[in-house]
Amino acid sequence: MTALPAYIGRFAPSPTGALHAGSLVAALASWLDARAHAGRWLVRIEDIDGPRCVPGADHEILRQLAVLGLHADEPPLWQSTRDAGYAQALDALKARGAVYPCGCTRKDIELALGDHAPPRHGELVYPGTCRDGLHGKAARAWRVRCGTTEQPLVIGWHDRRLGAQAQDVTHEVGDFVVKRADGLWAYQLAVVVDDAAQGVRHIVRGEDLADNTARQIHLQRLLGLNAPTYLHTPLVLGADGEKLSKQNDATSIDLSDPLAALQAAGAVLGLPPLAAADAAYWLEAAVPAWAGMMGDPHSSAERR
Ligand SMILES: [Zn+2]
Repeated sequence: MTALPAYIGRFAPSPTGALHAGSLVAALASWLDARAHAGRWLVRIEDIDGPRCVPGADHEILRQLAVLGLHADEPPLWQSTRDAGYAQALDALKARGAVYPCGCTRKDIELALGDHAPPRHGELVYPGTCRDGLHGKAARAWRVRCGTTEQPLVIGWHDRRLGAQAQDVTHEVGDFVVKRADGLWAYQLAVVVDDAAQGVRHIVRGEDLADNTARQIHLQRLLGLNAPTYLHTPLVLGADGEKLSKQNDATSIDLSDPLAALQAAGAVLGLPPLAAADAAYWLEAAVPAWAGMMGDPHSSAERR
């Protein structure tokens, strides 16, 4: 292994709509962190869940980023072009016995759980029904093994803003899906495979995604991939107190005033007010301000 690699970060939006005030915060934070460390900044369009994508939203997001002055260092990567990479990763997981086919429907899982396990974010903790075979059912999805009751899989990591984090994946998530019953690749697998393929070593994204980190670290370890550093940024809340999202009518950012949009996102990130005549000057001033605020991303990174 060489010494610490150059900084490579990314912004990875799902094209389910245009950028809004919340997603701009994540985009800006990842851009600032890359620039503050003289690194590279990439954009990846996470269009893996075709049915949820809005036609044209990918190009609208790229247009918005360009108007704001957030320019990527490479052409964007579309996850919909990455099928072969995901298939290769699934094969690698199969080869080491880390995954197994599951024939359960949601109803099967609910029946197996009975009244015991409460839903978690609307998802059920998989009870392990198919761990030792399909029992005559047809395979629907592929799940990755996540420890046992006797030896639970507990994964800890350091978040540059949130500090020490840990999750008992066995009891809080269960064996999770890497290839879905509808044939689509699961988000967790795609993110891990693409971050590795793009050389991403520094993940900066919204705090709503922090919950995925332990699962992604588990997959990184199984696939023998490097562990990135993590920084989860504050969320923008809607009028209902929930995270701002396309689901609670987050409106597209107003590109008639890019400076105001950037200033608002900067305030969420805790940047001080910065005097600037336009968006480009504001970004220029924000890079050293961010660097002073955040410090070195390698200082407490997980090393492997
Ligand atoms: Zn099953």
